[in-house]
Amino acid sequence: MSALILSGKEVSGVVRGEVAERVAALRRNGRSVGLATVLVGDDPASKIYVRNKHRAAEAAGMLSFDRHLPGTASQADVEAAVVKLNADEDVDGIIVQLPLPDGLDGEGAVEMVDPSKDADGLHPFNLGQLVLSRPGPIPATPGGIMRILRHYGIETAGATAVIVGRSFLVGRPLALLLGTKGVDATVVQAHSRTPDLAGVCRDADILVTAVGRPNMFDERFIKPGATVIDVGISRTDDGLVGDVDFDAVVEVAGAITPVPGGVGPMTIATLLANTVALAEAKNN
Ligand code: NAP
Repeated sequence: MSALILSGKEVSGVVRGEVAERVAALRRNGRSVGLATVLVGDDPASKIYVRNKHRAAEAAGMLSFDRHLPGTASQADVEAAVVKLNADEDVDGIIVQLPLPDGLDGEGAVEMVDPSKDADGLHPFNLGQLVLSRPGPIPATPGGIMRILRHYGIETAGATAVIVGRSFLVGRPLALLLGTKGVDATVVQAHSRTPDLAGVCRDADILVTAVGRPNMFDERFIKPGATVIDVGISRTDDGLVGDVDFDAVVEVAGAITPVPGGVGPMTIATLLANTVALAEAKNN
């Protein structure tokens, strides 16, 4: 039987609707909500991501501010742009679009963001808050994945969750979220040096693939009935392709996110949710 399709498109619509209501409530009290992006250079994919973030922010009733620096910008230029946005009263959330061009330090630029304006939840202070299970902005992609699981009632307590990938953007924060008290998955963090990756993945009730290799995970990696969350996005001649061989896995899994239309839209929705939460916190 074919797996249930976990539609990030649908769930992100719900989240964006909630965000729009919260923005409208702030505006009724005379407060605007502003999201700013810092983009460096002309990488086509980064430009599309940034454009989509602005469109989504504006559709939710937010102000959006676009700081586009040339590819020749220095680290000091990037950090100065961030510092200026930190001081801007109209800006509640700041995103530094990663990766920065070669030679620039993306993590260094993110560290310059005021943690109370960290829409991506990637500032070391907020990652520390996450480790301590304290409130704060949650990294957008892992936050979006958790919302998909909740929306579709996927049981996490007692489940074995295997996450393939250990980046600070996706794999590591997601491992914290899935293993946190109340969520209670048993988490395995796999990576490029994991022996017998297929065998490890076949133990997963929830398998999350965050690698960036098109169609790498076929039916041999899947426990029948498992929930499969495909984070990977690769641009190929066939368009955007996930890490999971969808056509093969959809026949074995219990539930699966498509690419596109799965995790991607949830990332943007979570960014907006983080931004409105930061604006609410500033307002209180
Ligand atoms: P990353 O920093 O490059 O991390 C990739 C991870 O995959 C690393 O931990 C790496 O292991 C692991 N890996 C690489 N080859 C492997 C292999 N053969 N077997 C097992 N593990 C392997 O990437 P990222 O930033 O986490 O992003 C991962 C993917 O998700 C990319 O395709 C990216 O475009 C996509 N992404 C999508 C969204 C979205 O909104 N949908 C958001 C963010 C990222 P090591 O640590 O051992 O090197």
